Amino acid sequence: MKFSSSAPCSSNFYDIVIVGGGLVGNAMACSIGLNETLKSQKVLLLESGKPKSLGTPPNEYSNRVSAISPASIRLFKKLGIWDRLNQYRTSSVTDLYVLDSCSRSRIRFERLNSNEEIAYIVENDAIISSLYDVIRERCGNVTIRAGSSMKNCVLTAGLTDLVSLTLADESSIETSLIIGADGQKSKVREEMGVEYTGWNYEQMGLVATLRINTDSANTIAWQRFTPFGPIALLPLSQEYSSLVWTTTVEDAKRLLALPPDRFVDELNHYLHTDASQNAFTNQTLFLLEKLGHVVCNTRESNYIQPPMVISLQSDTRAAFPLGFGHVSEYVKPRAALIGDAAHRVHPLAGQGVNLGWSDVQILTETLERAVKDGADLGSLTYLNDYGTESQRKNVPKMVAIDWLNRLYRTDFEPIVFLRSIGLSTVDKILPLKDLITYAASR
Ligand SMILES: Cc1cc2nc3c(=O)[nH]c(=O)nc-3n(C[C@H](O)[C@H](O)[C@H](O)COP(=O)(O)OP(=O)(O)OC[C@H]3O[C@@H](n4cnc5c(N)ncnc54)[C@H](O)[C@@H]3O)c2cc1C
Repeated sequence: MKFSSSAPCSSNFYDIVIVGGGLVGNAMACSIGLNETLKSQKVLLLESGKPKSLGTPPNEYSNRVSAISPASIRLFKKLGIWDRLNQYRTSSVTDLYVLDSCSRSRIRFERLNSNEEIAYIVENDAIISSLYDVIRERCGNVTIRAGSSMKNCVLTAGLTDLVSLTLADESSIETSLIIGADGQKSKVREEMGVEYTGWNYEQMGLVATLRINTDSANTIAWQRFTPFGPIALLPLSQEYSSLVWTTTVEDAKRLLALPPDRFVDELNHYLHTDASQNAFTNQTLFLLEKLGHVVCNTRESNYIQPPMVISLQSDTRAAFPLGFGHVSEYVKPRAALIGDAAHRVHPLAGQGVNLGWSDVQILTETLERAVKDGADLGSLTYLNDYGTESQRKNVPKMVAIDWLNRLYRTDFEPIVFLRSIGLSTVDKILPLKDLITYAASR
């Protein structure tokens, strides 16, 4: 192999450069840094923001949290951050209720077994900080360059040359493999010249931390679909839940500007109102439920309601534009994309970053194979395996999430009828429900 003017041993050479130290890039750095086979690789993690340490939890919860799937929890355990996060604070989700504001149809997802929760809710900052702590403490081969942005990079068509990066301070770096973990507006993706299919949903996800009132243990995640978009409540503690309220851009701006009390009143209204209920659909659901009970001995639905919201924790409201995006290729010679740089989904299923952590696991295994075989890390022979396997895992979930959003954005009566019957039927077929829970947790 021929290298460019800087020899690989020079101080500005790294075997791997990860651009972006967010939820996914940090996990990638940690995963490489802790892997016995990859420990010999010199790695640079570039992040434009400033990293923090985990420390002790503040009184207030952050308004940015993620629902973490069982598969991602297993990765967290491998990376040594799960115990740290548990000591900080996490909350478990034992059940997920999906409700339709246009009918009384609902589906309840439960744990597949008593050892595995449906998900855990964890603050994003805590995950990022704990990963930084592990990298600093245990990954001697990983250098963190924080407060440092990649300005541009030059990729190569083959393996003859290295990738060269220019940073915002005009310094330059060379690498055998650049990993783009720089989020939905990825510069690495732009430089790779891969085709990107994306659209905006013309919706925003309004987040906030809420003080709630519930008679039972606050371990249920709620998702109530309205024609504007779903409202999700994720449990944080007995007293607090995190909100992701999807609505139109105009409505999100209006909701952000409301006085806190009026905001809470409106939220309670949309969480509980029966104003859009479709009487014909509800009568059919009632009859089908009775029939199912008599003929197939199915369980009768338990109509528990989402908790009442008392107030905002403090004014923690913020809103983010929502969209879909996917690259045609995750890899090019000497380059790979992971996380939101490669794929972006609607947050309604709480899958976005979990798909990114799945990329991390697949790419780590791919690089491990390359190193064991003594191959070039940037070789497409290996990187293509990562691209293919990740796409195979991500694309079906991405399509399902997009369709779910479309299916629930309408109050057109025939669609409300069909989706309500469909949802209630799935709720009664336990093996099918378990299969969906299983697929979502992988
Ligand atoms: C309202 C909302 C709720 C969500 N809830 C969930 C959920 O419950 N579960 C779930 O799985 N997903 C959820 N998601 C999706 C999830 O937040 C994203 O998938 C996740 O943040 C993607 O992480 P990432 O590291 O790929 O990208 P990002 O979080 O965008 O991180 C990219 C990083 O790269 C850095 N960077 C960018 N450019 C450069 C550069 N040129 N040089 C150096 N550094 C750079 C940035 O500073 C940043 O730190 C939600 C999303 C939204 C909007």
